[in-house]
Amino acid sequence: MIVGSLLLILVAIVLLAAGLFSGSAAELGGSIGTSLLAAVALLAGVRQSAAGGRVPQQRPGADPPARMPAGVQARLAGLSDPVWVVADEPYFHLHHCAQLLGAAGRETPVSVAVAAGLVSCASCRAADVLMADMPRG
Ligand SMILES: [Zn+2]
Repeated sequence: MIVGSLLLILVAIVLLAAGLFSGSAAELGGSIGTSLLAAVALLAGVRQSAAGGRVPQQRPGADPPARMPAGVQARLAGLSDPVWVVADEPYFHLHHCAQLLGAAGRETPVSVAVAAGLVSCASCRAADVLMADMPRG
């Protein structure tokens, strides 16, 4: 999967160069589309290799991950609010979460965290807090 994404990146670069050289919008569009496919393939590959290797790190005090309801996932998938994630951990957090202490957290949009299969941290209840800010609809 990771090799496939690297090939897609190569194709995207070739299309970009061809598009820039010829001024063709179709080739530039193809380059963008191929880049997006490469990103998806890379994400899938990274998740696959992470799942195949080690058991996700569970720090003391953290509840075991439970799948979020589909409705919650769908609502969060439409949000771009920042959450914090830690490599090899199955949770996303709010920036002030105690679970992030001593961890190298990385900021990412909640939609990306949900797409990657991460679930809301039970300590900071990131999903609940983010959805509380949403207009009801
Ligand atoms: Zn948290």
